[in-house]
Amino acid sequence: MTAPHATVRPTDAAFLDGSDPDLPTELLNIPWIDPHNHAHTLSWEDRERYALSGCRSMVMVSSGYHWTPYKPVEASDIRFLWDDAINRRRAIERNHFFEAKLGLGVHTGVRIENPDELLAAMDDYCALDEVVAVGETGVVPSQHVERWDVDEQQAVVGAQMELAADHDLPVLLHTPNTTPDAKREYRDDLGVTPGYEKNTGLGTEPVLDGENPALEAVKRDVEAAADAGLDEERVVASHADANNTEYLMTETDCYLSYTIGHSWLVGVDAADVANAIDEYGSERVMIDTDTANVLRTDPYAVKRAMFELYRYGIDVDDIRTVVYENPRDVFGLAE
Ligand SMILES: [Zn+2]
Repeated sequence: MTAPHATVRPTDAAFLDGSDPDLPTELLNIPWIDPHNHAHTLSWEDRERYALSGCRSMVMVSSGYHWTPYKPVEASDIRFLWDDAINRRRAIERNHFFEAKLGLGVHTGVRIENPDELLAAMDDYCALDEVVAVGETGVVPSQHVERWDVDEQQAVVGAQMELAADHDLPVLLHTPNTTPDAKREYRDDLGVTPGYEKNTGLGTEPVLDGENPALEAVKRDVEAAADAGLDEERVVASHADANNTEYLMTETDCYLSYTIGHSWLVGVDAADVANAIDEYGSERVMIDTDTANVLRTDPYAVKRAMFELYRYGIDVDDIRTVVYENPRDVFGLAE
């Protein structure tokens, strides 16, 4: 027996038993913060997408690597990129209304000829109001074009952590992801991953070759923070994934930021974030997009994840903690 219906014949609506879920409409309006992207390298329209989907604040990261044209890379190449981001930041804010602050650092994914020159200059940059984080940086198992000895990398990461501690800034860590197995290999002669403008054939032999080099790299970063006198609560490990979550959650006080703007590449998405919240709570979890012009990335990733987390059973309060309160408090944003 179906309920009366105005439609020509019964539709699904006539069979539904009236148990409409209580939809949390506040999810439509919770402000959110992206604590790691490279939005200054995106198109104007992509930055507008952040504004249209309710982004309140972001940390635009300028730390060289993909954007330095010359190899070997010199300190001045990185410094130009820092200055470019500083130069454009206020215009970006005025165009799009969200707060756009900066993370500046030395990424060790590519070897730099004279890193001391950069580290010496960084002190003045760290004193700027618009700089809210040092990074992204962190020991990387393999470099682009030219290897960088792992102890030298760790020293460069540690020196940046000392600067961060001096200036009371958090450090945005680049932690290496373990990528999921491909269903099939691409032909060698193209030398690129579709969706990622990088000459993958120029990756060097690893400088870390243990059982789990990606995790070993993170452990070295945590060791560097201890040596630098930087509190672990001031370290945000971006690109958190299944390979490093347990270690970071149980053996450190670092924050974990799950990068979900290029899930097609690294396999991390809202389900991983939901699992982390279930297991460890929301207190040290964030989400970032890591959007950049060199790869296929999604400016809507955080907004989409807010709905997906709810579908996965996460409470609205925990969603707000993860997408807004944690990055707000750690980076001093949205004040
Ligand atoms: Zn990044």
